Amino acid sequence: MSDQRREELARALAALRRRLDEAARAAGRDPRDVGLLPVTKYFPGTDIEILAGLGCREFGEARDQEASAKIAALAGRLPDGVRWHMIGRLQRNKARSVALWADVVHSVDSVRLANALGAAAAAALGDGRRRAPLQAYVQVSLDSDTARGGVPIDEPDAVDEVCDAVAGAAGLRLAGLMAVPPVGADPDRAFGRLADERRRVCARHPSAVGLSAGMSGDLESAVKHGSTCVRVGTALMGNRPLTSPAVVTPVTSSSRTSERNPGSPAPPLFPEGSTQ
Ligand SMILES: *Cc1c(COP(=O)(O)O)cnc(C)c1O
Repeated sequence: MSDQRREELARALAALRRRLDEAARAAGRDPRDVGLLPVTKYFPGTDIEILAGLGCREFGEARDQEASAKIAALAGRLPDGVRWHMIGRLQRNKARSVALWADVVHSVDSVRLANALGAAAAAALGDGRRRAPLQAYVQVSLDSDTARGGVPIDEPDAVDEVCDAVAGAAGLRLAGLMAVPPVGADPDRAFGRLADERRRVCARHPSAVGLSAGMSGDLESAVKHGSTCVRVGTALMGNRPLTSPAVVTPVTSSSRTSERNPGSPAPPLFPEGSTQ
């Protein structure tokens, strides 16, 4: 792994931690109550090794196949205590595979998926292939456009049903709620609505206090509205390659700053030293 990439990630991580501290302080919260989940999807295992060397112990991945392959390749190369989070959309037929590598799933959005994951995690616990129950966030959709996943937030009975299914599954623990704001939405409004829903769900499930919310572009707003886990990709790793990680190596710092492809839809990089 290159020294240049190590320096780049070290700098981005330090800037991100300052940004998170600042966001917590601005919200009157203890920075230690806001977890940082580096999202390493599309980036190579060598980046994960570097981040582990910099003290990161939690990693978010969005696709079962990519995550399983990376984790297998990293066997024995990471410190103890590393935990893996599945943050992407999940089909029921992946439940058994995910239950073998994920410590936490952020994207449970149906009773059927909860049941499948619960059964898979219980089976893996039973035969020693996992040591702890699978922590599960119920994903809610803030605009009720469920094409991107999530239980419609304006259907509280449906949210309750999925939360109850997770809470009642032997292999699962209900961690809390997760959401991704709709494209173009005002993050303050979106996360405010999410915070209301979290209060409502917590009244029924008092231990489900987690809130997985906030990404590179909107983490300040998410922290203001109570996020306990921000999922950050771009601001830490740089822009993701636009095609499959199998055929493209991640862009380097030089191509990100001055020579980026014109017309690339990727969001601007978090500027170094800025607290944006
Ligand atoms: C990719 C991804 C992220 C990270 O997004 P960035 O804007 O790159 O920080 C967060 N959450 C989910 C569900 C993702 O798929």
